[in-house]
Amino acid sequence: MIIAIDGPSGAGKSTVAEAVARKLGFSCLDTGAMYRAIAWKALEEGVSLEDDQALGDLARSSEIQFYHEAGEPLPKGVAIDGVDVTKAIRTAEIDKAVSPVSAAPSVREALVDQQRRIGATGDYVIEGRDIGTVVFPNAELKIFLTASDEERAHRRVRQNVDRGLGSMDYEEVLADLRRRDAYDSSRATSPLKAADDALLLDSTGAYIEEVIDKICALALDLERKGD
Ligand code: C5P
Repeated sequence: MIIAIDGPSGAGKSTVAEAVARKLGFSCLDTGAMYRAIAWKALEEGVSLEDDQALGDLARSSEIQFYHEAGEPLPKGVAIDGVDVTKAIRTAEIDKAVSPVSAAPSVREALVDQQRRIGATGDYVIEGRDIGTVVFPNAELKIFLTASDEERAHRRVRQNVDRGLGSMDYEEVLADLRRRDAYDSSRATSPLKAADDALLLDSTGAYIEEVIDKICALALDLERKGD
């Protein structure tokens, strides 16, 4: 079964996707980390963020790997061509560079292909922007997760502290979330939007556990009906 979780930055997708995967015994794929890893490599190699072809070549020739700790079902981090970039892809610099990189059609083509191959290997919770619309339009369960801009910015600041990445300025984070959402929603290729058959969940003010339990209950219901 594929559970697609799409939505804007900071809506709580990662937290929800990981918790749902743990509860159901599914694997979990963070597609945003893949776009971030390519953005990191592009900056490292001095590839122009406007050069669609060069970015596509980079995406096709790079190997992105999610690695696990022994006995841990969910990934602990991400590497690109053997370099661990788990922390390096969460900087403000990558937050900026990832928008043009993820808008490049050739990059999307390369990564969507990889995402489909990964998802075909078992039961997955996959989070991103276009999972229910483009990557897995036949996903059994599609969630579009949103929250208010302010709540999303607060969560992002907290998440960075929890990840040991230090503190970020709230106003800057809020402005960046809004900028990225506008960019992601208006780009020509695979814009951020809810699939027609997605369930819209707003996590503003709600306990994230309620959202997690709701998704798990829906998935178990579908599994029962499919038996
Ligand atoms: O989810 P996260 O904020 O880490 O994603 C980083 C960026 O990657 C997003 O702002 C978006 O531009 C891009 N992205 C995308 N499609 C996906 C996942 C992420 O375009 N499926």
